[in-house]
Amino acid sequence: MSYSKYLKDTNLIAGVWTGADSGKTIDVTNPATGDVIGTVPACGAAETERAITAASDAFPAFATMPLMERLDLLWKLHDALMDNRDTLGELLTVEQGKPLFEAKGEIAIGAGYIRWFAEEARRAKGEIVPAPGNGRRIVVTKHPVGVVGMITPWNFPSSMLARKIGPALAVGCTVVAKPATATPYSGLAWGALCEEAGFPKGVVNILTGSARDIGGAIMADARVRKVTFTGSTEVGKELIRQSADTVKKVSMELGGNAPFLVFDDADLDKAVQGAIVSKFRNAGQTCVCANRIYVQAGIHDAFVEKLKTEVAKMKVGNGLDEDVEQGPMIDMDAVEKVEEFIADAKSKGGTIALGGGRHGNGQSFFEPTIVTGATQAMKFAKEEIFGPLAPVFKFEHDKDAIAMANDTDFGLCSYAYTRDLGRVWRLNEQLQYGMIGINSGLITTVEAPFGGVKESGLGKEGGSQGLEDYMDTKYTAMDF
Ligand code: NAP
Repeated sequence: MSYSKYLKDTNLIAGVWTGADSGKTIDVTNPATGDVIGTVPACGAAETERAITAASDAFPAFATMPLMERLDLLWKLHDALMDNRDTLGELLTVEQGKPLFEAKGEIAIGAGYIRWFAEEARRAKGEIVPAPGNGRRIVVTKHPVGVVGMITPWNFPSSMLARKIGPALAVGCTVVAKPATATPYSGLAWGALCEEAGFPKGVVNILTGSARDIGGAIMADARVRKVTFTGSTEVGKELIRQSADTVKKVSMELGGNAPFLVFDDADLDKAVQGAIVSKFRNAGQTCVCANRIYVQAGIHDAFVEKLKTEVAKMKVGNGLDEDVEQGPMIDMDAVEKVEEFIADAKSKGGTIALGGGRHGNGQSFFEPTIVTGATQAMKFAKEEIFGPLAPVFKFEHDKDAIAMANDTDFGLCSYAYTRDLGRVWRLNEQLQYGMIGINSGLITTVEAPFGGVKESGLGKEGGSQGLEDYMDTKYTAMDF
């Protein structure tokens, strides 16, 4: 096990690797085999309060560390990730299930976020604004918010922390993070990597255990000035409510229900490849996965035929095995949820064009599945599937496609394939989404602001906006 160096069975609190006060632990399993990989501490509120104290005590010195000294630490963190990319990728696949090439890609994009924010922090400028009369200067400056609480999901257990830890550390904030219980090791690895890079004790604290107790302690504590959460809309709403008592800043990266529109003039091959990468990456368990594929009548049958042919070639298996393109789902609850979507679609007239059931590999492996004849009455039209199920809807006119695309409470990512530039602008103006991919099914990149509108969230990660979210703006009026 090359990854044993990063298989941390303790938590990082105030610069010390430690177990839970109760001594209790939680088993972590490999979804591809069902084997227990190891255990992590079952920490709760008391340990979280100590972590917040450590982060709060470390903040003044870290916030005032010379900028280039702090950014040098980020560069070392970037290098530590890239030097250990294979090892960290393997660990990620073992606890999460995704194919190794995807896991290594996730580590690389995580390193990319650290590098981006290390570069961007040098441009975190304030401004001097012209005053309305003589004798006054209007000075606007930026300051780190303070201690930041971070709660992250299992589907991107490394990179979801990267785009929170990166901007926080770059501007001088300190961190108390709680990774998902299903995939804690990739989160704990950030603690080990930050130690390797040389961050001072208490700057980064990472805890595993009860979501309610750790989350509750983070939300209740007035010393935590910002909470950044990636996960389900349901939990996000609860955290927004909890943030009210101490009026924290919040960033919320929540669920999606991405429409994927294919117009008659689309490049068919490109559209099919885009649909596959968007739908089946991470076994359909990404917040930006194509959830509803709307295809215009003129290209519909050709698109479905090609999609079937290409998806049928996908190799399903243990993510560590060569050539595997789809790993297991995270657990059996996720499998059952996909089965419910399929049963609902069948009962309402949908046709299973490919797959449709559990895979012969056992565990939580599921066949890549295509349902045709999908309609707005089916459950997946409104809810996030989070599995390898591609529903294909047929439409006639642009306005119908746009109306159906917007007919959801979510607004994270959307996609469209067309060569008509006028239509592209109309889509830009009319699609109610925080992100739009035109002729591309994979658009996440460190330089761009990732984030949703409507019930998909608040705030942005990546881009210059991703740094802004970790700073307070201060206005000083100077009269001379
Ligand atoms: P989840 O159930 O909301 O869990 C996310 C995190 O919140 C986990 O660490 C979880 O801890 C914790 N949590 C659960 N209940 C909590 C509570 N009451 N108080 C505080 N923390 C709590 O979501 P998930 O199933 O892990 O992830 C899938 C969801 O994330 C999908 O909806 C997906 O769309 C969304 N997502 C969004 C983005 C984005 O950028 N917009 C990116 C990735 C994923 P435990 O693990 O201990 O339960």
